[in-house]
Amino acid sequence: MSFAAHRSDFAIAEHPESRARGSIRREDARARSPIAAEASPLLRIKGVTLEYRTPERVVRATHRIDLDIHQGDRFVLLGPSGCGKSTLLKAAAGFIRPVEGEITLDGVPVREPGPDRIVVFQEFDQLPPWKTVAQNVAFPLRAARALGRREAMERARHYIDKVGLTPFAESYPHQLSGGMKQRVAIARALAMQPKVLMMDEPFAALDALTRRRMQEELLSLWDEAPFTLLFVTHSIEEALVVGNRVALLSPHPGRVRAEFNSHAFDLTSIGSHDFQDAVQRLHSRLFEAAPESRASTEVSA
Ligand code: ADP
Ligand code: MG
Repeated sequence: MSFAAHRSDFAIAEHPESRARGSIRREDARARSPIAAEASPLLRIKGVTLEYRTPERVVRATHRIDLDIHQGDRFVLLGPSGCGKSTLLKAAAGFIRPVEGEITLDGVPVREPGPDRIVVFQEFDQLPPWKTVAQNVAFPLRAARALGRREAMERARHYIDKVGLTPFAESYPHQLSGGMKQRVAIARALAMQPKVLMMDEPFAALDALTRRRMQEELLSLWDEAPFTLLFVTHSIEEALVVGNRVALLSPHPGRVRAEFNSHAFDLTSIGSHDFQDAVQRLHSRLFEAAPESRASTEVSA
C-alpha cells in the first residue's frame, strides 16, 4: 500500500479525514503520488556507509543507507541517539565522505559543502554574537551568494519578516530567547534558498511550548513556499508532525529499518487516536530487538 512497501513491511495508513491544516500546497504535496514521483530524486543517498576512524578503532556510524529525497519533501530521519543521524546529515551536507556508496544532489555527487545545502543545528552558538539579527542573516548571502550589500539586506529583511522577527532585526543574539535565535538561524538558512534545507534536532534545546510553536512555524513557512527539508529528530511525535516521509533508523550503526508516509499527520492530529496509535506502533518498532543491528559496530583498526 505504501510506496515504500517494497522496502518496508511497515506503513502508516493514509488518514483522509485528517486534512485539518487545509493548506492548498500541503494538499498538493499530499496529492503528489510518491510513485509518480519516481522522477529522479533531488537528493539520493545510495548504499551509504559512514565511519569515523580514531587511532584505536573504526566506528561505523551508518551501514548501507538507501534514501531518495524528492523536491518538496519534508523528509525526516528518525532514530535513537547514536544511530548516525547527524553523521548522515553531515555527509549529505558534504562534510564527511562515505566509505561506501554515494550521495548525489540533482545527479551530481556531493563532495564538499556548498550553499545549496544549508544545515540548521540545535540553537547553541550558531550565530556570531557580534552581528545583529539582520547582519547574521545577510552575511552569508554576501559571502556565498555574492549579493551586493543592498540586495543582501533586502533579502535578509524579507526572511526575517517571514519568521516574525522584524522588530528584532537590529538586536544581538544575546538579547533573544532560544526560540528567537533558532528563528534567526532558520531565516538565515532559508535566505540562502538552498536546494535542501537540513535541520539537525533544531528544536531539541527548546522548551515544549516553544518547540511546538517552532514546528508550526516551520510548517507554515513550507506551506507558503515549499522547500525541500531533511530533518533529523529522535522524537516520534516530531517526526510525524514535521515530516511527509519518515525513515526509521535502527540503533548503531544506523540502517533504514522502515520508511513510510506521514503526511496525514500534523500538529492538529496530536492526541487523536490515529496519531497515538501511530506513535505506539513506531515506538515498539523503534525499540524492538533487531538482530541485524547487533552486528559489531566497532572494528579494530
Ligand atoms: P545521532 O546523531 O543519531 O545521535 P551520530 O551521527 O552523532 O548519531 O553518531 C553516530 C555514531 O558515531 C555514534 O556511535 C557516535 O559515538 C559516533 N561518532 C560521532 N561522531 C564521532 C567522531 N567525531 N568520532 C568518532 N565517533 C563518532
Ligand atoms: Mg545527532
